[in-house]
Amino acid sequence: MTSENDNRAIVAVDVGTTTVRCHVYDSRARLISESFQQLKILQPSPGCKEICPDSLWSQFTEVIKDAISASKTSTLEEIVAMGISTHRGTYTLWDRKTGKVLHNFITWQDTRAAEFVDSVNKSISYGVVKGGAKFLHFFTRMTRWRAASSFIFSTQHAILRLAWYFDQHPEVKCRAEAGEIMFGTIDTWLVWKLTGGKKHVTDYSNGCSTGMFDPYVMSWNWIYFTLLGLPMTILPKLQDTCGRTDLEVADQQSAMFGECCFERGDVKCTMGTGTFMDINVGRHPTASKTGLYSLVCWKIKDEIVFMCEGNSADTGTSVDWGQKIGLYDNIGDTSKLANSVDNSNGTCFVPGFSGIQAPVNDDSACCAFMGLKPTTKKEHMIRAMLESFAFRFKQLYDTAMAELKHPMSSYIKIDGGVANNDFVVQLVADLTNKPVDKAKNLDTTCLGAAFLAGLQTGIWKDKEELKNLRESMRVFQPRNNQDQYHKIYKIWEKSVQRCRKWNTE
Ligand code: ADP
Repeated sequence: MTSENDNRAIVAVDVGTTTVRCHVYDSRARLISESFQQLKILQPSPGCKEICPDSLWSQFTEVIKDAISASKTSTLEEIVAMGISTHRGTYTLWDRKTGKVLHNFITWQDTRAAEFVDSVNKSISYGVVKGGAKFLHFFTRMTRWRAASSFIFSTQHAILRLAWYFDQHPEVKCRAEAGEIMFGTIDTWLVWKLTGGKKHVTDYSNGCSTGMFDPYVMSWNWIYFTLLGLPMTILPKLQDTCGRTDLEVADQQSAMFGECCFERGDVKCTMGTGTFMDINVGRHPTASKTGLYSLVCWKIKDEIVFMCEGNSADTGTSVDWGQKIGLYDNIGDTSKLANSVDNSNGTCFVPGFSGIQAPVNDDSACCAFMGLKPTTKKEHMIRAMLESFAFRFKQLYDTAMAELKHPMSSYIKIDGGVANNDFVVQLVADLTNKPVDKAKNLDTTCLGAAFLAGLQTGIWKDKEELKNLRESMRVFQPRNNQDQYHKIYKIWEKSVQRCRKWNTE
């Protein structure tokens, strides 16, 4: 354990989908100062969700400057490391020579490629991909390939948004084939900027979240690139999560680290812009037929840890929308408002602005309130919305329990902005029938990046030491009311089915 007069500090930056945040931590992982800005998301047309790279760069540098200047106790010399965690799958392309970006970041929530994705998924199940390559027999030869053939693509995968973009801009594809273009997710682009264009890299945790990566051989998936006709020359170099001079990690993987989910079976739920259920599955990737994903949690030297992930894209997005349309004035009041009624009066909410992910896997599904009555009050609608977040988590958790053959930890850790909401956290505990441990520092993505940076620079010795630094705010015990919710949950599942295939011609 570090001593009280150890002045070393760590800067951690989290580029989330809603906020860009910088934390400065002391050597005991206590927050010294912080700064954040709302991330500017551009939505010029339906389904389109972009970020201007220049504006992101300004926000990134401003939050760092602001947090450091607010940290009265630390001087620049005391800051020994910086960890960066970024949301995943959001990508851009830039000119290899000039560094000029070719388009805004196309975010993981952008659904313009939905039809394209649908056609690729169908092609895979028929064994034929656009371009006519027959390959199903290929896939079934080996376990690894069987896993690949059951992979379900979604618009969240950068590879298909990239293929879709090239379809619309064949001239850019030609330049990419000529080796003039570079591809990068947010982490890659930030490191490129920070190193003055010297490094074109990504870490395994980010790389594996693009749909371009093969976790079975720990390298870019040439099969997908060949089938989709994409040039691999655009790709950054894969490197360990902790590099020698820089440290970058994907946001959910960082949250796993911040939550100290170090053992096989450890589960965490991050509820921010979206909900992410992640389970440490140990040293080997797991295949899924239901749209869960096998991702590298971290790779540090010889240690490679995998996780199984399921997500629901529109949790915080829905909360913010509710405020925007005047369902409530203060987001902080929603828990109380939901508790002010006994039930949702038959109202169901389906959080599907960006489609519905696993186990439904429909990018064209819609978002909906259903079962409205003349007696429906705002409070019922608020309750239905909050219930839907816990329902989606239960749906993901049950799917994972059915697919993974190993035991899960006896409790679930929870973090992210929406975990401020006690109604939601309590319902997660009730529906899963497991205690839910809410972190004191809900920005575990930042904390995870700091933990990794601190380990790398020797502030902390090992993971055991980190476990003592993670603080719990409260443990929510299940209330044994599953029977009460059984019927409501079934009706909600029906409403999810009704939202499917909405945005199709
Ligand atoms: P990200 O890391 O994806 O940017 P955050 O973890 O910062 O997201 O969470 C931000 C989200 O949390 C916002 O959409 C915000 O509306 C939501 N949020 C914050 N407080 C509450 C609350 N008390 N109840 C419900 N949602 C909340």
